Amino acid sequence: MIKTFDLFFILISLMAFIRGMNRRFRLWRIGKSIEPTGKMGSRLKTLLVEGIAHRRILQDFYPGLLHLFLFFGFLIPLFVIIITQFMFTLPPWIALPLSLVLDLIALTAIAGVILIFFRRYVSRPSRLDNRADDLSAIILILFILVTGIFLESLRLSVISNDVQSWAPVGKALASLLNGAGLNLNTKGVLAMVVFRIHFFLILAFLAYIPYSKLFHIISAPINILFRSIEPKGILSHLDLEDEKAESFGVTKIEEFTVKQLMDLDACTRCGRCQDHCPAHLTEKPLSPKKIINDLKNHMSQRGPQLIKARKKGSELEEVPPLVGHVIQEDELWACTTCRSCMEHCPVYIEHIDKIVDMRRHQVLMESKFPEELTAAFKGLETHSNPWGMGRDSRADWVEELDVPILSENPAEDIEFLLFVGCIRSYDDRNKKVTESMTKILNHLGIKFAILGIEEGCCGDPARRVGNEYLYQILAQANIDTFKRYKIKKILTTCPHCYNTLMVEYPQLGFSCDVVHHTVFLQEAIQNSRIKLDTPLNKKLTYHDPCYLGRHSGIYESPRDVLKSIRSLDFREAVHSRIDSLCCGAGGGWMWMDEKIGKRVNIHRLEDVLTTHPEWIATACPFCVTMFDDAIKDKGMEDKLKIWDIAEIVEQALFGEKKRASIPSESST
Ligand code: SF4
Ligand code: SF4
Repeated sequence: MIKTFDLFFILISLMAFIRGMNRRFRLWRIGKSIEPTGKMGSRLKTLLVEGIAHRRILQDFYPGLLHLFLFFGFLIPLFVIIITQFMFTLPPWIALPLSLVLDLIALTAIAGVILIFFRRYVSRPSRLDNRADDLSAIILILFILVTGIFLESLRLSVISNDVQSWAPVGKALASLLNGAGLNLNTKGVLAMVVFRIHFFLILAFLAYIPYSKLFHIISAPINILFRSIEPKGILSHLDLEDEKAESFGVTKIEEFTVKQLMDLDACTRCGRCQDHCPAHLTEKPLSPKKIINDLKNHMSQRGPQLIKARKKGSELEEVPPLVGHVIQEDELWACTTCRSCMEHCPVYIEHIDKIVDMRRHQVLMESKFPEELTAAFKGLETHSNPWGMGRDSRADWVEELDVPILSENPAEDIEFLLFVGCIRSYDDRNKKVTESMTKILNHLGIKFAILGIEEGCCGDPARRVGNEYLYQILAQANIDTFKRYKIKKILTTCPHCYNTLMVEYPQLGFSCDVVHHTVFLQEAIQNSRIKLDTPLNKKLTYHDPCYLGRHSGIYESPRDVLKSIRSLDFREAVHSRIDSLCCGAGGGWMWMDEKIGKRVNIHRLEDVLTTHPEWIATACPFCVTMFDDAIKDKGMEDKLKIWDIAEIVEQALFGEKKRASIPSESST
């Protein structure tokens, strides 16, 4: 029976909880509203897989396991208490095994909390920063668990039935209490005192949730539930013709959407994103964890003032822009958009879209961006490639190759349009990959064509650095050409073009089948259209490109292709698949100079070198260039080669001697 006295404190705790929750939810609502999102079934499934089964959390096994101990150590006893106290008494055949489970779970949870404390305050991995509320949450949880198990052992010390033998931990503690010679009265008083402490600790815990790091108990599941279910590589569409828009991109916290602000509140500061960020790993001034938490702190400061001002119907006095005050320019521009942070974040926080939104404001409204991008933008504007190389030389690589150009054979019924992309068209090293691919296509008798000088940059280099205006111009020009030629299927050897054409062009009204060459080659091998008879006798390590792997989910096709080649000693990189390290060229870095810290391509090469390869394989022109530079930088050209998968297939198909000589210098 709940007493009035208890009820009073329960109500106070509940009121504090509701008030705090309301405050946080109102903060999210300062953001731009979003359309309601569907697919509730698949969202709930992810919530179960991530929230309950801890799939992503357990990818980092030890801290993940500790969290799992704590999660179930809290959740299951709570669930059982609710059932037994308010609904019905369990029959012995359920109650007894349940006592055993609860007993062990409580012990595991206590061990979990102690190990969490040890990890946070003794071993202290660099990704963790400690704040007062981390310690208070740990102490609160530990005391709740300890008082709970102490209460149970007091109960067991005065009863002697089957329950004791099904609760070994409680029984052991009960024996200790009995051994201490406590009489029944003392135990009764002790039980009352411990119960009160336990009760008030639980109420304090409830009231403390919205005001502390414990808030992630609420915000994390909500954030997982409302995660983006768009294709992974997509950036939000910006309506540049919106006449009501006062500015583009984000420079004030309230210009983020409600979902983006919810993201900030879901962060548990676990640091997984930071541990996997190539910029952070190479001493650049960027930590995705810090970005999220700096924005969150800013939201907590500015949000209440904004809410008050909106209530009064007044404007808030001008506040300094986010970039330069909350987020520093070097941080903002250090991101390679590799998506490693997002794939490792256990609560599905979306870092890249916030970074690109702030870049959009810098570029579109302030014209503030790293100076090297000026030349890239100019090249894209005038010649539709970031180097500004003559548009009329875009198809020079064709030379004597047998490659049809669509404008010269418009009536030709083609299976594929081969979308070559800027790097594979202009860069001497990468032109070799295009040649290899066209030789394979001709060998297979595939009817394909290229656009030649009618092809333009897909727009990815402009979009990732925030120049949405230029991106849309470039994309629209390609879309008009695709529509004119009624293109139905596109093959590309570049994961950046693949992602942009496949998932981003539909935002501008054009969709068609887009195939990456690794998928095409995998299918050709599986259908026995290609026979790779030449043994290559090399030790080879595959590097997963960010935009093929993490952004597009293509991990198996390149591996299947490589593993089907005779005498190729295939080795997985230590960091592979979602853990693959960026080559350092994404997010505009192909056209910017790394002036701070270690170069990302050198960092990645050193990582791959731990597997002692003779060849490195990849499937992206950016990665080919970055590895090529890193190999030269280390003076390893004689013992180590970087190849695109198309080049390796060509060698396995025609024999090594057919390879044309590879230029020693990149031409772009
Ligand atoms: S996308 Fe990559 S570079 Fe950018 S913040 Fe995330 S991990 Fe770091
Ligand atoms: S953003 Fe995600 S991965 Fe990074 S610290 Fe926050 S919760 Fe952890």
